[in-house]
Amino acid sequence: MDEIVRVIAKDAPVKASAITGRAMVERARQIHKTFPVATAALGRSLMAGAMLGDQLKGEGASVTLRFNGDGPLGSITVVSDNEGNPRGYVQNPAVILTSRADGHLDVGGAVGKNGTLTVIKDLDMREPYVGTVPLSSGEIAEDVTAYFAVSEQVPTACALGVLVDTDQSVLRAGGYLIQLLPGASDEVIDRVEQGVQALGEVTKALREDGMDAEGLLRRALSGFDLETLERHEIEYKCYCSRERVAQALVSMGRGEMESLIAEQGGAELTCQFCDAVYGFDKAELEELLRRATR
Ligand code: ZN
Repeated sequence: MDEIVRVIAKDAPVKASAITGRAMVERARQIHKTFPVATAALGRSLMAGAMLGDQLKGEGASVTLRFNGDGPLGSITVVSDNEGNPRGYVQNPAVILTSRADGHLDVGGAVGKNGTLTVIKDLDMREPYVGTVPLSSGEIAEDVTAYFAVSEQVPTACALGVLVDTDQSVLRAGGYLIQLLPGASDEVIDRVEQGVQALGEVTKALREDGMDAEGLLRRALSGFDLETLERHEIEYKCYCSRERVAQALVSMGRGEMESLIAEQGGAELTCQFCDAVYGFDKAELEELLRRATR
C-alpha cells in the first residue's frame, strides 16, 4: 500500500510531504517493461509528481512534470491528480547502463545532465502555470529542488529513492519534500539540514529501519513540533477512457480517419500511460468519421 503524508511544523515555518511508492513504481515497471535504471528514473519522477499533485487545491487540478534530458532514456512525462495519484511514461524504457561506482543506478547519466524540467500546474478553471528550469543533475530530486528554488522561490530539500531487486522488481520506493516557508531563520535551516543528514538515504531508512512515510519526516524533522495535516493511500492511476480515445481519433481530422478506415479497416490504440488497449472496428470508425464531419 502506497501512501502520502503531509505535515506542518507548529513551531517553525516548515512544511513537508513524504511518500512510499513501491506498488506504483512496480505497476509502472510492469506497464512499460522498464529496465532497472528506467524503473528508478520513472519511479522517482512518479513520486515527485505525486507529492506536487497532492499540494494542489481545487477540484480537477493536476500537475505535469516533463524531464527533457539528453541521456539515453529520452524524455520522462508524469502527471498526477490533486490527490497524489500519478501516471507516467519514459520514452526509452529499455536502457542498460552500468551502475555508478557507489553501486547506485546511474539515473543522472540515463536522464542526462543537459536539458530542462518543465512543470505545468493545471488548476482547471484558470490558465495553467508553467515553469521551466535547466536540469541540474538529471537525478530527479535535485532537479525538483532546483525547480522550486528558481521557479517558485521556495527553498526545498527533496530526496527520492527506488531500490530495484535482483529480479528487477521494485523492493522499496519513497521520498520526501521539505519546504521552508517565508521567515525561516538560519537556525531552522540548519536544523532541517542536520535532520536530512541524520535520516540518510531514503531507501535504506525504508528497508533497514522499516520506516513508513511519516517516519521519514519524523526522523528528518525531529525536534520540530509536527502536526499531520493529511495521510492517505495513493495509487498509479490513469484517467483514460474509450470516449477520450475516440475524441483523439476524431481530432485527427477527416483525411487521416478516411485513410485509417481504407488502409486498416479498424484501429487499436494503446494508452501511453497504462496498458489499456482500445479497439475500434470499421463501423465504429465510420461513426466517428461522421462526428468529425459535423
Ligand atoms: Zn490509460
